[in-house]
Amino acid sequence: MVTSPDALRNHIKLITGLGANPVHLDEWLEKSSRGAELPPLSVAFTFDDGWQDNFEHAFPVLRANDIPFTIFLVSKLIDTDRTFWPEQVLQLLTADNVPWEDDCFQWLTSAMDAVINPPARLPLELADADSVIGELKALDDETIYRNLALVYQAHPHLAPPHHSRAILNTAELADMAASGLARYGAHTQHHYRLNRLADESQLEREILACMDDIRSLGTAHTDIFCYPNGDITHKGKDLVKSRYKAACTTKTGWNREGCDPYDLHRFNLHDGNSYSPQRLLATIGRGLL
Ligand SMILES: [Zn+2]
Repeated sequence: MVTSPDALRNHIKLITGLGANPVHLDEWLEKSSRGAELPPLSVAFTFDDGWQDNFEHAFPVLRANDIPFTIFLVSKLIDTDRTFWPEQVLQLLTADNVPWEDDCFQWLTSAMDAVINPPARLPLELADADSVIGELKALDDETIYRNLALVYQAHPHLAPPHHSRAILNTAELADMAASGLARYGAHTQHHYRLNRLADESQLEREILACMDDIRSLGTAHTDIFCYPNGDITHKGKDLVKSRYKAACTTKTGWNREGCDPYDLHRFNLHDGNSYSPQRLLATIGRGLL
């Protein structure tokens, strides 16, 4: 699910052409909460997870068009070459040099058996790999990372290469912040799904300490949270409310003046649903229904 620079350029052109005012999300929220006058139509660009390609591909387009944006960071991944488990699992499922009969893959082969019928030919096609990743979401994130670590320990050649950094580093964050266009919100410390954490202190670290990490970077932070995968519990939401001014969900739609700031809706745009102006209008228009 990616947005090409051309598609992003088209989004900006079309949305501003419709009269929408590009705004910093936190400034719009601040005005909305005190009932100040707002433009009839505003647009806030947000990016989740802190992918390095936000700097490489999106930032030049945003800067050229003077578009403010918010990136929700996974604080413990910054300055590392680690990435998220779905990408790592996808890599394994689509590789052709995996000794699947080895015990360390049992958690993956049983997920394959559960969703692919008749038994799959390996390596998997993308659609089948996607179903397996969906099935693995029944496990908690730490278990999956532990299983992956055992795989790499037994088969070092399968480990993700160290030269392929996927996540933003401090220098890139500072560079984008210096433009005055970027602000950084919180997307937990490890991108664990917050409805699957058994331990309350872990929930607190993921939600509260994440912003401490981001503030310690000394760059343009904003006190807005973004729920990984859109998942949250009552206790988690209370913690978010105690520390942040607002939170983004994965729900689709518009936000109106005076809306619940902890239940912000968005449009998840990618080339598949918004490359052409017609598709973009259809995707956004559906949010009005
Ligand atoms: Zn995310």
